[in-house]
Amino acid sequence: MTGNDILYLVIPCYNEEAVLHETAKQLLAKMNSMFDRGMISRESKIMFVNDGSRDKTWEIIKELHESNPIYSGVKLSRNKGHQNALLAGLMTAKEKADMAISLDADLQDDVDVIDKMVEKYYEGNDVVYGVRSSRDTDTFFKKFTAEGFYKIMQAMGVELVFNHADYRLMSRRAMEGLSEFREVNLFLRGIVPLIGYKSDIVTYERHERFAGESKYPLKKMLAFATDGITSFSIKPIRMITTCGILIFGVSLLMLIYFLVVHFMGKTVHGWTSTIVSIWAIGGLQLLAIGIVGEYIGKIYLETKARPKYIIETVLD
Ligand code: UDP
Ligand code: MG
Repeated sequence: MTGNDILYLVIPCYNEEAVLHETAKQLLAKMNSMFDRGMISRESKIMFVNDGSRDKTWEIIKELHESNPIYSGVKLSRNKGHQNALLAGLMTAKEKADMAISLDADLQDDVDVIDKMVEKYYEGNDVVYGVRSSRDTDTFFKKFTAEGFYKIMQAMGVELVFNHADYRLMSRRAMEGLSEFREVNLFLRGIVPLIGYKSDIVTYERHERFAGESKYPLKKMLAFATDGITSFSIKPIRMITTCGILIFGVSLLMLIYFLVVHFMGKTVHGWTSTIVSIWAIGGLQLLAIGIVGEYIGKIYLETKARPKYIIETVLD
């Protein structure tokens, strides 16, 4: 399928000096092959978003831009995290691009399926999700937690594309749709399905990180998952209510039972049962307050409506 639409590749980068040259090289080769086949406009760009890196990432982006204007750069004023960096890139790209593909800087997202995404775009899809065909390159732990995450999200009623991370194509109108979502707490893979429009998936093999190390340690992964759930579902709060009703019901039944046996002349003794129930109910209450607190914290952050990112420089 051919066309002359402008494609922007949007790549969030945080301390990626070890991979950036290689990534730039591979993406350039891919763009050139698409130019040669007349698939995309020659005004297309490879846009790196520097998310407040502390290493030479921005210097490398500047050098790349000077060597070839196909490379463009966006510099955020500080580190704002992968999701915000991605959003900053997409919102900048949509000014000129007809479509944008977001991908990681570490070459884990298979560059070869870019063509397939673009073909699906020309077939009339506004969103094309990259879906991992397997998790063979992951550690057992990552595989286990990631799958658990998708299952919990599903149980909480959040619409997610299974095994899709943030490797996806979006048309300009899908990006415009995205800009209407004002929430400060961004969880893109939950929001994108809510935009609507026709969408499709392409499957790909996810590679090992080319070089450098993962910026998603366990602590960040857990925070990301909690954010994902609490920004999209109030089921946890409903579960607390259900739990509360159940426990109250059981305690009423127990009360009736104790009274009945008492009047029949057999008082129930028991220190253990008393202590266990105090601890159990106490723990449950603290957990419940914590869950409610998560949501109140969300409201607090959302009402402040702080900017999600501040752009310092754009090299275009
Ligand atoms: N990233 C970012 N800001 C951050 C952390 C990560 O822009 O605060 C970028 C990072 O440079 C990479 C992508 O997000 O391009 C995914 O990060 P990483 O590969 O470390 O995550 P993993 O693949 O291990 O989940
Ligand atoms: Mg990675």
